[in-house]
Amino acid sequence: MSTSSAAAERAAEPSAELRRRADEARGFLPPEEGLALHRAACAVRAEVAGPLLEIGSYCGKSALYLGDAARRTGRVLFCVDHHRGSEENQLGWEWHEPDLVDPAVGLLDTLPHFRRTVQDAGLEDVVVAVVGESATVARWWTPPLALLFIDGGHGEDPAHHDYECWAPLVAPGGRLAIHDVFPDPADGGRPPYEIYGRALASGAFVELEGCGSLRVLQRLDAPLRPTSRPSVR
Ligand code: SAH
Ligand code: MG
Repeated sequence: MSTSSAAAERAAEPSAELRRRADEARGFLPPEEGLALHRAACAVRAEVAGPLLEIGSYCGKSALYLGDAARRTGRVLFCVDHHRGSEENQLGWEWHEPDLVDPAVGLLDTLPHFRRTVQDAGLEDVVVAVVGESATVARWWTPPLALLFIDGGHGEDPAHHDYECWAPLVAPGGRLAIHDVFPDPADGGRPPYEIYGRALASGAFVELEGCGSLRVLQRLDAPLRPTSRPSVR
């Protein structure tokens, strides 16, 4: 492939088939936000080494967009999820899907659905599931990231932990994408918006683009200034 066609390939949108598969996958990412995420991942300069990593995969919807971007840019996507669902996915909560419960253990298990989604899309060679608690994985993770997508637990502790553990690992020139950022509290919970604010206040990130509730920031060549969780809620 010539240099210019390689660049065109990197900049291209996902195929119609990939987009259809992403539409059909169960999950919580509107197509236009998935495409914005794909663009963000494809646009990371090739000199910025490192994989893509998402926290919060559920049944693999966002992993299709990011996995396709990984394929186009010669990277790999790591998908960190314990696959037991967030608080809001549990029995009695708004986003509970009863058929995702493993009856043998009485807990949610989205891993088989995730695997199937990734396999059907032909992305198994570039998408690696890391099954575990985000903070536990982060404790042992060292390689810098070309892109970090935070879409895990939206409670105060999980969201702030994800920011605190993972945001420092984004490489200079790499990107931090955060989902479910709602400036107006009437539209959704606060923690994702709060960590977006912390990233900007750290002085280590600038905002590049927003689409729906997705925000994409770029890491500067600067350390993160420590910020604390907002105390007034
Ligand atoms: N990105 C997905 C949606 C993710 S939903 C999509 O495109 O549809 C949030 C996911 O985060 C759930 O699958 C849940 O199991 C996972 N999660 C929540 N808290 C977590 C934690 N502390 N560690 C690992 N995974 C977590
Ligand atoms: Mg989300």
